[in-house]
Amino acid sequence: MTRDESSDTLLRVTRKLQCTTHGEREETCVCSHLDRDAVSLGFNRDDPTPEVPFPDAWCNDCEIIRTSAGGWNEESETMVKAVIVCSACYERARIRNTSTSMKLDDLNDLRWKCFTCEEWHTGPCLDFAYSQPYYSSGEGRTSASPLELFRNWRDGRLTTFLTEDYCAIDNTDFFIRGIISLPILGTAETFCWGVWGSVSRQNFETLLLKHDDENRMDLPSMFSWLSTRLPDYPDTLNLKMQVHVSRPFKRPQFEVELTAHPLAQEHHFGITPARVKEIMRAMLRETE
Ligand SMILES: [Zn+2]
Ligand SMILES: [Zn+2]
Ligand SMILES: [Zn+2]
Repeated sequence: MTRDESSDTLLRVTRKLQCTTHGEREETCVCSHLDRDAVSLGFNRDDPTPEVPFPDAWCNDCEIIRTSAGGWNEESETMVKAVIVCSACYERARIRNTSTSMKLDDLNDLRWKCFTCEEWHTGPCLDFAYSQPYYSSGEGRTSASPLELFRNWRDGRLTTFLTEDYCAIDNTDFFIRGIISLPILGTAETFCWGVWGSVSRQNFETLLLKHDDENRMDLPSMFSWLSTRLPDYPDTLNLKMQVHVSRPFKRPQFEVELTAHPLAQEHHFGITPARVKEIMRAMLRETE
């Protein structure tokens, strides 16, 4: 593809740009089709290397142009328009456009028995949730409002409780429920793990008090240890996370620290539809 500047690989590694969404990031280059809200167009590139982690990328239509011209040359390059995007926008384009052998639509015929309603459902299940943290026995389950809980907790009348969103154990350990999202390759969809994370007493107090406060998403992100053990992974307990508080009545988003742990990798780099099917198999009693 053509770049405005002569592409000196060494220079490019250090070139930065200011993205209106992501701030200062590395400059990358994709074909114009892959920009913005594109999805399922294919994502072709040379293999990334430590020196070039974000090699130029192009869609499947541009790949046809490239191969019929025998590679990137004067002929093919004039037919493809390239755009400069930030490395985070590039990653988003990669996740949404990467072709996978199994498509999410291929799961449309999958039938599975639901835990919640005991009925058979059809299609992909993109949401699994845990009703309590790993450390809770389910003791103190209540449907009391967060503010009511807060008052009883502060007055010392309540030391252990569990709701759909909050859990206190013996007035020493505090947990909230949130979402770890795994973007699904080749789609604009995400798979959601509804899990629990620990928070400090002070953050727990703030979250209870601001449960339906319109300004709660202005709260700074909070540190958390993942407190749910997910099947089909190496142990997930105590993975480090940041809690990003969402607007009222939307669960917080848990950002898993980027490590080599498969859950962290899936959270940051996405999962295939085939992996969605694998998780469904592990999580559901019956699938067919
Ligand atoms: Zn293209
Ligand atoms: Zn960006
Ligand atoms: Zn159901």
